[in-house]
Amino acid sequence: MKQVISVRDLEEMVKNGKDIRALPVDALLTPSARDFLRDRESGDGYQPARATSSDGAVVTKPITSRNSKAELDAYFNSSKIQALKHQICDIGRRLWQRAYVDGNGGNIAVRVGEDIALCTPTLVSKGFMKPEDMCFVDLEGTQLCGGKKRTSEILMHLQIMKRQPRAVATVHCHPPYATGFAVAGVEPPTCMIPEFEVFSSVAIAPYRTPGTPEMGKLVADLVDEHNTILMANHGVVTWSHNDVEDAYFKMEILEAYCRTILVASQLGKPVNTMTPTQLQDLLKIKQSLGIPDPRYGLKECELCDNDGWRPGVTCALPGSVCGNGNGQTASSSASDPETEALVQAITDQIMARNS
Ligand SMILES: [Zn+2]
Repeated sequence: MKQVISVRDLEEMVKNGKDIRALPVDALLTPSARDFLRDRESGDGYQPARATSSDGAVVTKPITSRNSKAELDAYFNSSKIQALKHQICDIGRRLWQRAYVDGNGGNIAVRVGEDIALCTPTLVSKGFMKPEDMCFVDLEGTQLCGGKKRTSEILMHLQIMKRQPRAVATVHCHPPYATGFAVAGVEPPTCMIPEFEVFSSVAIAPYRTPGTPEMGKLVADLVDEHNTILMANHGVVTWSHNDVEDAYFKMEILEAYCRTILVASQLGKPVNTMTPTQLQDLLKIKQSLGIPDPRYGLKECELCDNDGWRPGVTCALPGSVCGNGNGQTASSSASDPETEALVQAITDQIMARNS
């Protein structure tokens, strides 16, 4: 006798981690079970939840935290979410291997529904997570699924997702070079390496106790125009409008950049910056990729502002050309007595050699 498979049977199989493609070839599927399979095959987007309306018609709607526990569990165990869990473990391993996380530090979240995120657990090294460690939370941080407790820093990830609807994935960790900048309260200088200019847009959020709503709010206040936030005296969080690997790439790009400019600044020679026109070309590419940047629309002479950077990266174009009236330019460091003394010493040496 042929086996009759209902949508309930399929949900049960998914919940128990069974592969629904392994059904007997001659199994009889109820109409709603057929719809269920078709929806799963169609793949992308949020998994629709199924419900039967009063006239008996099957309706589909995006899954939300208000779905039944059984529906949420089925979604949590679906092949789409299982694949994401594996991907998060993979990213966690890469964070750990690159020494971007220490102890149980760092956390990762991926938005998987209107108000649902998949995230990493608390008190587990990011280098050694298992897919079954992951959690579902709603956008207020309430845990919906998963055996382990969700990360204590989830509020910050969720506040980013709420404030920036394009943020589909967030990664937080403590990469030493970038975190060094965050501890010093120094924004990395700009106009030096194309990769960084195109893919990163950095700002610093003030320090608050990790995991508190205030910390999340201060970060969220910056995500309109920045995809990489240095958290003062703590670490870094990045968001991506593409996927979790892209959010991780932003971390690699930032850390490599901070490391490189620290090397460059120790070579005893002023570093070279690109020209504003060269930077403008990169910003055009950045804009076409949908990456935010507060410099869009600025005049060329306003693009390379490295005033906050010591020891001394200066813009290739003198700021005075800008005519902004305040007389303070990136290259005029006359107010800095140390620089003045250095310039005087070099001038004296040249004069002595030529005389
Ligand atoms: Zn942290």
